Amino acid sequence: MTEPAAQPLHLYNTLSRRKERFEPINAPYVGMYVCGPTVYNYVHLGNVRTFLTFDTLFRYLTFIGYKVRYVRNLTDVGHLVGDGDEGEDKIGRMAKLEKVEPMEIVQRFTNDFHTVTAQFNMRPPSIEPTATGHMLEQIEAVQELLAKGLAYESNGSVYFDIDEYNKRGGEYGKLSGRILDDLLNETRALDGQSEKRSPLDFAVWKRAAPEHIMRWNSPWGEGFPGWHLECSCMSTKYLGKQFDIHGGGMDLKFPHHECEIAQDRGLNDREPVRYWMHSNMLTVNGQKMSKSLGNSFLPAELFAGSHALLDQPYSPMTVRFFMLQSHYRSTLDFSNDALKAAQKGYRRLANGLRIAKLLTYQADDSVTPDLAKQEDIQKAVKQFYDALNDDLNTAVGIAQLFTLLKYINMLYMGQLQVATLGEETFTLLRDSYLSFIHDVLGLYEETTTNQPVLNGLLTLYKEYKEQKQYDKVDQIRSYFKAQGLAIKDMKHQIDWAYEE
Ligand code: AMP
Ligand code: ZN
Repeated sequence: MTEPAAQPLHLYNTLSRRKERFEPINAPYVGMYVCGPTVYNYVHLGNVRTFLTFDTLFRYLTFIGYKVRYVRNLTDVGHLVGDGDEGEDKIGRMAKLEKVEPMEIVQRFTNDFHTVTAQFNMRPPSIEPTATGHMLEQIEAVQELLAKGLAYESNGSVYFDIDEYNKRGGEYGKLSGRILDDLLNETRALDGQSEKRSPLDFAVWKRAAPEHIMRWNSPWGEGFPGWHLECSCMSTKYLGKQFDIHGGGMDLKFPHHECEIAQDRGLNDREPVRYWMHSNMLTVNGQKMSKSLGNSFLPAELFAGSHALLDQPYSPMTVRFFMLQSHYRSTLDFSNDALKAAQKGYRRLANGLRIAKLLTYQADDSVTPDLAKQEDIQKAVKQFYDALNDDLNTAVGIAQLFTLLKYINMLYMGQLQVATLGEETFTLLRDSYLSFIHDVLGLYEETTTNQPVLNGLLTLYKEYKEQKQYDKVDQIRSYFKAQGLAIKDMKHQIDWAYEE
């Protein structure tokens, strides 16, 4: 049997608003840029959802053979409270509150971000550049925009000129589907600043007010770069003037990504990104999870079960599984019940992982091949690829894993003779199950148990059972239960499993 044929990869492109066949500019190389966090606060589960989506995409692209350069930045300057062009820097504000250096804030929350991404088994990006590390590139970009007449200086700040950009064929609003007149009406009421020619213009460089602690010298005096500029400069520097994938959460479409496109097109005279991808929001009771709304959960609260809305702790892999069970473009609502169901599902898969690793093939010429089962397995494997190739539909992909799991369980329970599958299909079943879960979905068996100790206890369990010493039998059962494990008393063997 050959590798199961699968549909080619299609990804939904926010810019064209349809699924498109994925064709990298320079296959097998893929350039992928994802907006990273602003490192001024602990990452919450909403942030985790977005980074997990792109981790899964990174994993899948690598799995199917692409060589991915994955750039995910850290925003350590320029992102202002309120996400606009006025006010305090998010990091500077925290530094003032705590009376520490801004870079201490940056370091603390960068460490937290790295801890959390490792807890969820996200692979590190290929490059993790920072905004403060690219000040020269940003100042040069501002100079270039000024030289091209696409930006103007005003009172020590420099603004991108949307009117001029659009006159030259720029299509500001195209990515987010905003209509310029509507935007103007919305902003005019809110915006009284006289520094800008048009309220739609956005800062590429801001003059630092005296109380502003994060400041750099520039041709326009002391200041700092506008929030959107770093991503334009760093994506171009590491991935080129045109690259394959740009991702982030939906809430970054406007203004952040819209402004990025304007800057990139202004600087490089071309559409910068082939596939714009946006993951949908994690919600709580239908409302976006966010720090400012006060409905956010920290990963640590989830692992400890210490949040008021939780009635038990949940492990990182349970949460990863929970998130992968929905398609990244759908909203996902966070609740105790949904997590409980995910815990059950994840543990079923984890039991399958443990068993699959133990299964081996034994040829038996007297056995008739079961072609229907072989086909069913091959179909499930193909459908897993098809699901992932259909805009990374992990939800449908996971359903196929449960089909594979059914056969793995049958083999384990002695209900199916391995020879009926034939060696090729058996190997396909076992290897696909393991690699889809480990490599593509990034899930692993989460256990702190010491397997030799468990095996020793199971031997004792058998002996006590034969000797009818039921109090000791119960003690061993309780010991397993306390660790979230169950003893499986089967006809042909006794084993343990994760409690589902
Ligand atoms: P921030 O540090 O606020 O810029 O957020 C980092 C990333 O998390 C961005 O890509 C956001 O779009 C994303 N994000 C923020 N809140 C949520 C949420 N509730 N669900 C999913 N992604 C989110
Ligand atoms: Zn960005």
